[in-house]
Amino acid sequence: MRVLVVEDEKRLADAIKLLLEKEKIITDVSYNGIDGLDNALSAIYDVIILDVMLPGMDGFSVIENIRKEGIETPVMMLTAKSAVTDKVKGLDRGADDYLTKPFVTEELLARVRALGRRSTAGIVSSDELSFGDLKLDTASFEVSCGQKSVKLGLKEYSILEMLMINKGNAISKDMLITKIWGYDSDAQDNNVEVYVSFLRKKLSFLGSKTAIKTLRGIGYKLESEEENND
Ligand code: CA
Repeated sequence: MRVLVVEDEKRLADAIKLLLEKEKIITDVSYNGIDGLDNALSAIYDVIILDVMLPGMDGFSVIENIRKEGIETPVMMLTAKSAVTDKVKGLDRGADDYLTKPFVTEELLARVRALGRRSTAGIVSSDELSFGDLKLDTASFEVSCGQKSVKLGLKEYSILEMLMINKGNAISKDMLITKIWGYDSDAQDNNVEVYVSFLRKKLSFLGSKTAIKTLRGIGYKLESEEENND
């Protein structure tokens, strides 16, 4: 999962990033509205956390522009006041949820997860993704097969999560780079290949019959032996 935080209070923005990354959620931060809109328009995010009072362009204009461009990424607005007008204004412009500052971190996390589930069209169940004989625990970041399990690093986890959400459909290397390293990153195909090879080692350690298949010139997909026997 990849989240964009648009918040000009640097300490708060950085604290949210730290909190989310501890939960294996890749997080980008924009410190003003213009940069935030620019990032949001890349359409690579699963959730956007958007402050109302921002330099450059306020949160209401940012959400308005995001929706005008046809981008449906779930947006949670951060409102400083509990003023009803701010909430209504945000929701009217297409926000999906709002949180009043100050908030407790558990609540922020719960809401981001709920919005993230919505953005992957309900494919992600509460705490677990599965494909073939593999189960991916989205809370502990462990992948398991039968009785064996192994913990994944952030990039490994993100790659496997995307492959599992795509249910055996191909994902291009470009898509993986954009979603995991970011659209302005200089990551190359071989960065992806390195992490895919780590993942393959872990899947073989688990004795899994599910494999990450390379499709030449296309990308990767998950394939389970069980499925082939059908
Ligand atoms: Ca602010």
